[in-house]
Amino acid sequence: MKVEFSQRLNKLPPYLFAEIDKAKRKARAEGADIIDLGIGDPDQPTPNHIIEKLNEASHDPANHRYALDQGMDILRAAVKKWYEARFGVSLNHSDEILPLIGSKEGIAHIPLAFINKGDYSLVPEPCYPPYKGGTILAGGTPFIMPLLEENNFLPRLDKIPNRVLKKAKFLFLNYPNNPTSACAELSFYNEVVKFAKKHAIIVLHDAAYSEINFDGYKPPSFLQAKGACDVGIEFHSLSKTYNMTGWRIGWACGNKKIIAGLAKVKANTDSGIFSAIQLAGVEALNGPQEYIAAMCRLYQQRRDALVEGLNRIGWQAAKPKATFYVWVKLPKSHKASIKFAKFLLDEASIVVTPGCGFGQSGEGYVRMALTASEDRIKEAIERLKKVL
Ligand SMILES: *Cc1c(COP(=O)(O)O)cnc(C)c1O
Repeated sequence: MKVEFSQRLNKLPPYLFAEIDKAKRKARAEGADIIDLGIGDPDQPTPNHIIEKLNEASHDPANHRYALDQGMDILRAAVKKWYEARFGVSLNHSDEILPLIGSKEGIAHIPLAFINKGDYSLVPEPCYPPYKGGTILAGGTPFIMPLLEENNFLPRLDKIPNRVLKKAKFLFLNYPNNPTSACAELSFYNEVVKFAKKHAIIVLHDAAYSEINFDGYKPPSFLQAKGACDVGIEFHSLSKTYNMTGWRIGWACGNKKIIAGLAKVKANTDSGIFSAIQLAGVEALNGPQEYIAAMCRLYQQRRDALVEGLNRIGWQAAKPKATFYVWVKLPKSHKASIKFAKFLLDEASIVVTPGCGFGQSGEGYVRMALTASEDRIKEAIERLKKVL
């Protein structure tokens, strides 16, 4: 029998990181001392009190059964309280908050609720891959909005052609941004709400990095914009804030009709998050938060070591205000980011993520993650100095 993939599966863009990943594993197996600045995954452990809560909750047989699709009431209440305290946004926890098996799950599933064949998603690029992937899997078409340095890595909404606007269902946004580390202010979100109302477009804002911030800066929520709850939702996650990427827990919140659409898709595809993990999530949100500031100080020291080091050896890198990424423009002589990443791996045993892996608009850049120790970052700078 000839097994054939669906057309939609064939339409998904290739996974460009796979090649670098393979090369990295090969070099490591051959004994290379790899400095990995490629991983978008915290290197610090989940705080102990959260692990203890999981341990305790996992022994309770009540938590061994199917969880409720819409998440535990106490988790939604904890999210409500957290949003109020952090952003001054008040949400109704019965129908404006939906726990997710990691925010990626919700981002990838939501197009199934709203996208019809021939519809567009407006997708910023470079970007987190599921904005495109989820749209394509639902039969829609991503319309690429390049994020350019000259526009502070914000999309130019006025450049989207009318024929696209007529069939656009979604506007994806992500600030603080992966991979560019750019931030957006409330004034931008206010413009976005006006734009969304005018063209009847649903706004999907991904705020996974809002708590990884530096120098006293606090990124706003999209939901703080006036009227935001009329047009959109925000995705949030415990992954980066509490070093819980492997646990798979996040949420969507905002407009209740949009939440209801996503909930209906999920009711037909999964059966909720392991209850013990939900209770650990409640502990994360309600428990001591001092640890977050300490973690941000650690990333900030690494950021300073990396950016100052790069600038000393003649690059032009800027210090991000949030996220654990530095988005670095390649020197003029090195334009193809994938070649440059391979060169760094081969010649300096340093792993960086080529910008083109986030879409064509990321070409000419590499992403360096602050998920290695300060010492290793300083060592990376020494190695770069030698090979460049
Ligand atoms: C890490 C990350 C997330 C979080 O995904 P989870 O599925 O919640 O772990 C979401 N968006 C972006 C842009 C990310 O980089």
